[in-house]
Amino acid sequence: KEQMIITVDGPSGAGKGTLCYALAQALGFDLLDSGAIYRVTALAALQSGTDTENEEALAALARSLDIRFVPQKGEVEIWLNGANVSAAIRTQTTADCASKIAVYPALRAALLQRQRDFACAKGLIADGRDMGTVVFPQAQVKLFLDATAEERAKRRYKQLQNKGINGNFAQILAEIKDRDYRDRNRAVAPLKPAEDALLLDSTSLSIDEVIARALAYIREKT
Ligand code: C5P
Repeated sequence: KEQMIITVDGPSGAGKGTLCYALAQALGFDLLDSGAIYRVTALAALQSGTDTENEEALAALARSLDIRFVPQKGEVEIWLNGANVSAAIRTQTTADCASKIAVYPALRAALLQRQRDFACAKGLIADGRDMGTVVFPQAQVKLFLDATAEERAKRRYKQLQNKGINGNFAQILAEIKDRDYRDRNRAVAPLKPAEDALLLDSTSLSIDEVIARALAYIREKT
């Protein structure tokens, strides 16, 4: 049976995580959070003191890592070399380091097969930046979820507020813009929609509307 793959690419904070989780639930598919793989690699580099400007050392490190996704009561825990790093990979420091090391072609190549191995008979929702363009160009359905930087910063600000953290809006917006710039302008696998992707702008849509539109498009295409 053909392996069904649905790719969802877009910048950080556009709502990909929530959309992908909902699609995986609705369709009974597995989920690949490729950003988590880049974050785990960044964390491993920071923890081991690997020079984050040494492309070959980073690629060798990436190949050596034991990364596991462990489903746990409606959540997925991320484990690195036997330790639960689910919280550690979500810090701003790790996110920044991930987007900096993600520019290196040798590092991206080292992570490619690891991502492709997630394709399976059940079907896969692949969440990232280059899922539809590089990792799974053969995907049957490709979505590109975008939103303005201001709207994404607003959501992030509210998310922090809900956790009781008082963020600095200007700083959050600046960090989002920096990361976007690096992701969109790198030479290899830059963030951009695949030619055959459906563009979804979530700026003025609720998450339920985004999910409904994505599901309607998936039904139409499959
Ligand atoms: O999506 P998330 O914020 O977890 O991704 C962290 C960083 O990893 C991104 O800013 C991006 O630079 C990098 N990344 C990537 N390609 C992917 C997924 C993430 O370059 N497919």
